[in-house]
Amino acid sequence: MFEDLRDLYQEVIFDHNRNPRNFRVIDNADRKVEGFNPLCGDRLTLFLKMDGDTITDASFQGSGCAISTASVSLMTEIIKGKTEAEAEALFKTFHEMTTGKAEDIQLEAVGKLAVLAGVREYPARVKCATLAWHTLDAALKNETQAISTEE
Ligand code: ZN
Repeated sequence: MFEDLRDLYQEVIFDHNRNPRNFRVIDNADRKVEGFNPLCGDRLTLFLKMDGDTITDASFQGSGCAISTASVSLMTEIIKGKTEAEAEALFKTFHEMTTGKAEDIQLEAVGKLAVLAGVREYPARVKCATLAWHTLDAALKNETQAISTEE
């Protein structure tokens, strides 16, 4: 049963890595922030289109490993239509899930993002999974400077 679940999760990660969603530039994006994970070489640019405090569109460009690409692809899908507060809450839950700080993972709260919960067993890959979210966090705070996971 657990093995089946793990296979399914890996399948979702492979799928998003092969066919990243929202891999495009948003012209006239309201927010644009670059994120970099020097440990792995993952690099991305996140674009957000806002309507008030609601994220109406999200996209990215860049290149990285399978985990970072799947993570940012899933993230751009899931944050569309969310308010800034909802996105921040997801970031917090996702961070706790991937760093193992959560006592029990609230799978329902994170939806498809649960496929990345497995990285908690590989500390070196956690930053690959959280890079997109740290970049989103900076974008939501209206920061424009590139962020690095090593600062
Ligand atoms: Zn990586």
